Amino acid sequence: MKNLESLIKTYNDFPQKGIAFKDILGIIQDTEVFRELILKMSSNKVIKSSEAIISIEARGFIFGSAISLQASKPMLVARKPGKLPGNLISDSYELEYGSNSLAIQTDAIKPYKNFAIVDDLLATGGTVKCVAEMLNDSGKEISGLSVVIELRELCGRDKFNFPVESNLVL
Ligand code: AMP
Repeated sequence: MKNLESLIKTYNDFPQKGIAFKDILGIIQDTEVFRELILKMSSNKVIKSSEAIISIEARGFIFGSAISLQASKPMLVARKPGKLPGNLISDSYELEYGSNSLAIQTDAIKPYKNFAIVDDLLATGGTVKCVAEMLNDSGKEISGLSVVIELRELCGRDKFNFPVESNLVL
């Protein structure tokens, strides 16, 4: 498999000064690498030991839906404000650049007890912590986090009491 890192472009000072933005879209343009990555992510313990996947808007959806098909696990979504209808749980969080809110549909999570969280990149961990807290507050368990990239020096994983499986540490 081609090196994952060679498909990731870094844009300095995007979306704001001081941020080195990792553009992961090159991965999904190389179907061989994308397929191998999805097979690897789908067979890891975090996904295997979950009942359902919850992926985070927007780039998390790309990887989450492919993993969902490969691992035969239902996928739920955590979305930004104003996108989801129905009864919602929502919370705010800080991320590497700025702050945001996420919401989950209350009825959608009801049938499942144990979730794997999927996103493209782990930076400070604020985004994932927000999702984890909403699930925990609803009485749910988390098997772990599966991400494509982890920015190790931001120490995001130290915020969690569940395993983190990353495919590229930068
Ligand atoms: P954080 O909450 O700080 O862990 O940020 C993680 C979320 O923000 C993920 O959904 C990423 O897509 C996005 N993100 C944060 N930092 C970066 C970065 N340097 N490059 C690309 N995406 C990032």
